[in-house]
Amino acid sequence: MPIIDLHCHSTASDGLFAPADLARLAAANGVERLALTDHDCLDGLVAARTAANEVAMGFIDGVEISIEWGGLQVHILGYNFDTDDAALNAGLASIRSGRVVRAQRMAAELEKIGFAGCFEGAMRFAGNPSLISRAHFARYLVEQGVCKDVRSVFDAYLVPGRPGYVAHCWATLEESVGWVLGAGGIASIAHPGRYKFSRPQMRTLLDDFKQFGGQAIEIISGSHSSEHVAFFTRQAREKGFMASCGSDFHGLGESYVALGRFEPLPKGLTPIWEAF
Ligand code: AMP
Ligand code: MN
Ligand code: MN
Ligand code: MN
Repeated sequence: MPIIDLHCHSTASDGLFAPADLARLAAANGVERLALTDHDCLDGLVAARTAANEVAMGFIDGVEISIEWGGLQVHILGYNFDTDDAALNAGLASIRSGRVVRAQRMAAELEKIGFAGCFEGAMRFAGNPSLISRAHFARYLVEQGVCKDVRSVFDAYLVPGRPGYVAHCWATLEESVGWVLGAGGIASIAHPGRYKFSRPQMRTLLDDFKQFGGQAIEIISGSHSSEHVAFFTRQAREKGFMASCGSDFHGLGESYVALGRFEPLPKGLTPIWEAF
């Protein structure tokens, strides 16, 4: 099976490599087709595509949209859409403006427990100031010596129930799928194994996603266990979803797996790229 990585992040969101460097790194790892899927923004696509062309690697425009469903943050991947589509761009812009407000509230909460200057500190780590992410707060707090690594900062301060976590109402499932389909693209549910839903809730999420026009499930993800792969493979077969795969690479030392380094899609599933 060809090595196709359809999920990664650049400095346009919370990744550590600039878009062109990321594309070159993917090619060096043997990736034959890459999709850049920055959070809520399309800024890195042109540079990544140009670099991919230079090394003769296939490239798919992508995005990872932050939404809320069932009270939790869920991510919807969009692929192969018209990057100039007005509704998609306006929707992503509205999510980005909400990010800045949330970041200010996060900084206020962190200040209450003794960590001053977190907004400015996190901003220093943000390659794209309109795309301030919890990952940038985590890098700042590691730099300040608060925790030894990014994961420990999340566990202690940045996840639901922890003092720096600020709930935020992103877009809805219906809006996100509508933006991707309206721009002529294909939508896939990102890393479904990561969401802390019960099995019945997960089935409802998949049914809602399907009803709104969602076409694929990210079966293989850097963050999925073999149990996740088996469960979502059954769900894709039962419910008629295509399958996508990706590393969710953010940077060296901060990622589950390297670009392109994951197992092939299980047999009998329709790969999403057949529809590109
Ligand atoms: P945000 O979109 O600002 O809420 O931040 C979410 C991002 O933080 C994800 O895309 C990951 O890059 C990162 N992230 C989320 N949870 C964790 C975790 N437990 N450990 C490390 N990074 C995480
Ligand atoms: Mn991220
Ligand atoms: Mn994600
Ligand atoms: Mn991601």
